[in-house]
Amino acid sequence: MKAEIIAVGSELLLGQITNTNAKFISARLAEAGIDVYYHTVVGDNPERLAQSIRLAQQRADILIFSGGLGPTKDDLTKETIARELGRELVSDEEALETIKQYFKQVGKTMTENNKKQALVLAGATVLPNRHGMAPGMGIEKDGKQYVLLPGPPHELEPMFENEAIPYLLGVYGKQDIIFSKVLKLQGIGESELEVRIQSLLENQTNPTIAPLASPGMVKLRITAKAKSEEEAEQLILPVEHQIRSIVGEYIYGVDEDTLASKTTELLLQNDWSISAAESLTSGMFMAELGSEPGIGNALKGGVVVYNKEMKIEQLGILPSLLEYHGIVSSECAEALAESVRERFATTFGVGLTGAAGPEPHDGEPPGTVWIGIATEGMATESYKLQLSGSRNSNRKRSVQFALHYLIQ
Ligand code: ATP
Ligand code: MG
Repeated sequence: MKAEIIAVGSELLLGQITNTNAKFISARLAEAGIDVYYHTVVGDNPERLAQSIRLAQQRADILIFSGGLGPTKDDLTKETIARELGRELVSDEEALETIKQYFKQVGKTMTENNKKQALVLAGATVLPNRHGMAPGMGIEKDGKQYVLLPGPPHELEPMFENEAIPYLLGVYGKQDIIFSKVLKLQGIGESELEVRIQSLLENQTNPTIAPLASPGMVKLRITAKAKSEEEAEQLILPVEHQIRSIVGEYIYGVDEDTLASKTTELLLQNDWSISAAESLTSGMFMAELGSEPGIGNALKGGVVVYNKEMKIEQLGILPSLLEYHGIVSSECAEALAESVRERFATTFGVGLTGAAGPEPHDGEPPGTVWIGIATEGMATESYKLQLSGSRNSNRKRSVQFALHYLIQ
């Protein structure tokens, strides 16, 4: 079964809104085992919409429309499809009732064009709209299915989930499902990763493996097609094992895991505590951990010591150390980490210092970062990064690397 999603709206073409409906529908169809072959975006223009419909009829079995079901003149999806399929538009009693109720509730008078919203294609299965006025539709013609959905995501999403998916599964029966597991890696670049798992990448058909890179992070998505989620997991497992045997040291989590969530888990499990002294990141490290539920039992606190005097005054860093080694140095990062760990009496103390950019700082080129990690009863360690992003991306990546070194 091949599906095509046709998003209707000039706003999309003008770049005023993002086509999140297509993203949502695609993800949901993948889960339901229906393959999406094309995404089309077309403006509020009947001729071009008609052309898109004819093209989609040649290459898809299921045509899913988003948008243009409203009451205004530019909303022409229904009318155009009616014309293309040779169907009448008829008023749907239930939909008309919903619209009347709505106007009664808000104390406004209903206009003629609101009645237009209750018009549906003759013979269509009406998909009720529980969050708005325009009903959706499902209709068959010449072996093809047409599904019409309203544009606003808060109307489309529940309608698609609760009405359209059951409608399609009712027509086609249960399909193979597509199930993915994402492995998350840190500390290895995308190209190195690809080289190391090259043979796996080339020889996989079910499941398939896809490397995905986002700033500062690499993911591997393993996707299987199977009758059930359990069966898909069984297919994924041996491939995951093979990947882990090659690059396991870089994998910190799966699916929704983040470095912050894994760090939090580790701290809480071991009853460890943490504090941070932040220069370069000015609180971002603590903010990242702070977003994790339960972190209060581990994150005691910390200090933002942005300028040199505050490093000396608040944390007792020796002026001579800063003078001799500089602010962007392993010595400074380690001193920050040790001092904050002692003052806050925590298992770990993290120190972050560096030149965020775009200008050099204290004689060091932009992107030079030192991360110090002081651990109770152990020698303090420090790590150097040489980043090449913008100021804020360097700061964000420093936080991610600090978490990475902590749980490594
Ligand atoms: P309405 O009755 O609100 O007019 P409609 O079904 O006619 O609904 P449109 O007029 O096409 O839908 O779009 C209404 C709003 O829905 C847009 O202004 C936009 O905020 C949102 N929207 C439309 N299409 C999309 C899309 N593809 N992705 C995300 N949002 C969308
Ligand atoms: Mg509209």
